[in-house]
Amino acid sequence: MKSRRQFLQHFSAALALPALAGWTNKPEASLQGPVLKVAIMGLGSYGTRVADALVGCKRAKLTGVISGTPSKIKTWQSKYGIAEKNCYTYDNSDQIKNNPDIDAVYIITPNALHHPYAIRVAQAGKHVICEKPMALNAMEALEMVNACKKANVKLLIGYRMHFEANTLEVVRMRKAGEFGKPLFFQGLSGFRIGDPGQWRLTKNLAGGGAMMDIGVYSVNGARYMLGEDPVWVTAQETKTDFQKFKEGVDETIQFQFGFASGAVASCLSTYSMNNLDKFFLNGEKGFAELQPATGYGPIQGRTHRGALALPHVTHQTTQMDEMAQIILDNKVPEIPVDGAEGLKDMKIIDAIYLAAKTGKRVDLKF
Ligand code: NDP
Repeated sequence: MKSRRQFLQHFSAALALPALAGWTNKPEASLQGPVLKVAIMGLGSYGTRVADALVGCKRAKLTGVISGTPSKIKTWQSKYGIAEKNCYTYDNSDQIKNNPDIDAVYIITPNALHHPYAIRVAQAGKHVICEKPMALNAMEALEMVNACKKANVKLLIGYRMHFEANTLEVVRMRKAGEFGKPLFFQGLSGFRIGDPGQWRLTKNLAGGGAMMDIGVYSVNGARYMLGEDPVWVTAQETKTDFQKFKEGVDETIQFQFGFASGAVASCLSTYSMNNLDKFFLNGEKGFAELQPATGYGPIQGRTHRGALALPHVTHQTTQMDEMAQIILDNKVPEIPVDGAEGLKDMKIIDAIYLAAKTGKRVDLKF
């Protein structure tokens, strides 16, 4: 919910600036500078969260939808003011090529659709924003990177924590040497999953289980908290419910990383425990703890210097405003969110699955 101050800021900005024509889903005057025109593909739970967050953006704007469900298209059209000519199905989505009202497509579908549609969007000449996990494996991720390079469009992954203030403060402190040499990271990522029939528990659509969905936060977090990529991986899988978590769908995986600096990481990914969202970084001179570390916020934590409590801003609003600047102004983010960043995580996840299967350490090269 907006604070009174945010409301007043929004309201006075709306009075002060001239209206821009054509878009109707928010006071046009709150937009500033060139605006990224975004179509969302996949109008589900997270897509709706992103659409709502886009209403608060200054540099990004929801202008189109791609969906397999006509009734949702109608609802979104009236809720967000989306023109009929900017509405597509998966089958005719290649036609966005000729639509100047769409600069980028944000793919928020089940994981298995990220790869084929990212390539199609790139071939239609539009920038690609893709949810995590970027793909089902590193091979697919590499194909996405190459397709976007070939089409000369940007590929960004929906790593919203890379723009979150408390997270960025820890990264700033680490870069400034305030923790001394980083030595250890612990990442705990999990929640208790419900409905056994959902796509997240279907291998073909999810590509795996908890690791693909929530464990990826600890994989990615280990890298931005320590500022280094792992050179080896070990992993152990545990399954207690073989009905719910079928072959190829992981329930719980513990995994460990080693880094060239000598730092180590120990992480847990699970679909069986609630209240599991914590990052801990230990260095020679200090520590940082974020808990919750990756939820929708507010993110909270502390360091050896005291509490971390920078103000909460809707993550997806900050993310989309920042991504608009990356795409339109070539802004370089503090922590990368490009396809190469997503590809690294997919290589690591492939290695985790291999290590869990073989019981052997897997070495990594980037
Ligand atoms: P939902 O199931 O709520 O929505 C997915 C949407 O994709 C559906 O509503 C549907 O939209 C479309 N879709 C197309 N094909 C299928 C299919 N075969 N089965 C089911 N849906 C299909 O999922 P979420 O929104 O929770 O997750 C979508 C993606 O977003 C995932 O990759 C997930 O990892 C990521 N995510 C990221 C989060 C973050 O914080 N960054 C948080 C939550 C999810 P339509 O009817 O319009 O076609």
